[in-house]
Amino acid sequence: MAGSWLLKKDDIVMVMKGRERGKKGKVLAFYPDQDSITVEKLNLYKRHMKPSGQNKGGIVEKEGKIHYSNVLLVCDKCGKGVRVKSKKLEDGSRVRVCRKCGDAIDKI
Ligand SMILES: [Zn+2]
Repeated sequence: MAGSWLLKKDDIVMVMKGRERGKKGKVLAFYPDQDSITVEKLNLYKRHMKPSGQNKGGIVEKEGKIHYSNVLLVCDKCGKGVRVKSKKLEDGSRVRVCRKCGDAIDKI
């Protein structure tokens, strides 16, 4: 989980700004020091790899970092990126709740 955005690895998020706007993808990694994440197959950039050892080199595509504030967690019911809040259940566990439809998205 990362900061107040309540995101975690493997979450499906929607990009709300920039050239990947409206696209969905799975959270791959967090970069807390830069308030950024990488999302599978989104914000790709091409990188030239130098040949080394077994690696023949060439161009590979890598996921570029996206700022937290540009993505929202996807609510299955709403079918798009939504703001979420954290809610404590009777058993003490916490769930993320969609601010739009009020559905629990999953346990944190
Ligand atoms: Zn919802």
